[in-house]
Amino acid sequence: MQDLFCRRIDYLRISVTDRCNLRCVYCMPAEGVAKQRHSDILTFEEIEEIARAAVELGVRKLRITGGEPLVRRGIVELCRRLGQIPGVEDLSMTTNAALLPHMAQDLYQAGVHRINISLDTLDEDKYRRITRLGSLADALSGLRAAAEAGMAPIKINTVLIGGFNDDEIPALADLTRRYPVELRFIELMPIGHAAPFGPEAYLPSQAVLERLPQLQREGACGVAALYRLPGAAGRVGLISPLSHHFCGQCNRLRLTADGKLRPCLHSSDEVPLRGLHGPALRDAIREAVRRKPERHGPLSWSERSGAGRDMNEIGG
Ligand code: SAM
Ligand code: SF4
Repeated sequence: MQDLFCRRIDYLRISVTDRCNLRCVYCMPAEGVAKQRHSDILTFEEIEEIARAAVELGVRKLRITGGEPLVRRGIVELCRRLGQIPGVEDLSMTTNAALLPHMAQDLYQAGVHRINISLDTLDEDKYRRITRLGSLADALSGLRAAAEAGMAPIKINTVLIGGFNDDEIPALADLTRRYPVELRFIELMPIGHAAPFGPEAYLPSQAVLERLPQLQREGACGVAALYRLPGAAGRVGLISPLSHHFCGQCNRLRLTADGKLRPCLHSSDEVPLRGLHGPALRDAIREAVRRKPERHGPLSWSERSGAGRDMNEIGG
C-alpha cells in the first residue's frame, strides 16, 4: 500500500491488550487501567482476520505489543497463527521481558524470532521506581532467555529521561561492547502520563552523542540512526521523535486492542475495524492508509502529542 505521500505502508503494530504487569510512570497510572471488558477486546480470530486482510493489501511486518503482550492469555498461540499467514515476512514483539523466562522458547518456536525489550536502567532501585512494580533481575533473566532461545537481533528500548537515566548513558551503551544487541535510546514523548513531566525530563538524543563522542555513525535503519562504539559487538540506536521528526519514513499502522486502526501515533484519528469482513475490512484498512497525515503536529515538552490515548492503549 502506498499513502498519499508516496510512503510504502507495510508494517502493522498490533496491541493485544492494554493491561500490563508493570506501571511505568511515563506510561500508566499507579493504579493500573480500568479493565476493559473481555468482550471489548478483539478476539484472536478477529486479530487474525484483520492481519490477513492487511497482509493481502501489502503489509509484510507484524509487531505484537500492548500493554504487555505476554500477559494476554494464549499469546503464544496467537503468534503462531499470525506467523503462519502467507506473506508475513517478519513477526516481532515489544515486551518488558518479565515473563520471557518461561515463554521465550515457545515464542521462538511460534515464529517470534526477534524481539524488542524495554529497559530504562541497570539499577535495581531505579528500575523499581520507574516501573513501580518490576524487578530488574526479572527483566535481565528475560533478556537472557530471549538470547538463549535464539532470538536475534535483540533490541533494547531505553527511554531517555533527563534526571533519571542520563547518568547511565555510558553504562547502558556499554552493554553493546559485550553483547550483539542494539541499544536504542528513545526520546521521551509527551503522551499520556509523560505529558506533565517538566522540560528537564525531555532530553534530546544528541545528549547521547555528547556523552559518547567515540560513537561511530553506521547509517540508519527505519527510524533509528545507528552508531557503534569502537570494537563493540552491538550497536547503539538513536530514535528522536522530538528532535528529528521521522514522519517521512513512517511505514506503519497501529491496531488498538479494541479494534481501532490508527493512521498516526500522534493523532486521535482512528478507523474502527470491528465487525467488518472481506471487502469492507480491506476498504477500511485502505481508508486508514489514506488518512495518514504527512507529518504529525508539533511535539515538545510543552506541546503534547495529539494521540488522545495513553501509550499502553496504542502500543508505542
Ligand atoms: N509493555 C511493552 C514494553 O514496555 O515493551 C510494550 C508496550 S510499551 C507501551 C512500548 C514502548 O513504548 C516501550 O518501549 C516504552 O518504553 C515506550 N513508551 C511508553 N511511553 C512512552 C513515552 N511517553 N515516550 C517514549 N516511549 C514510551
Ligand atoms: Fe507496561 Fe510497557 Fe507501559 Fe511499562 S511501557 S507500563 S511495561 S505497557
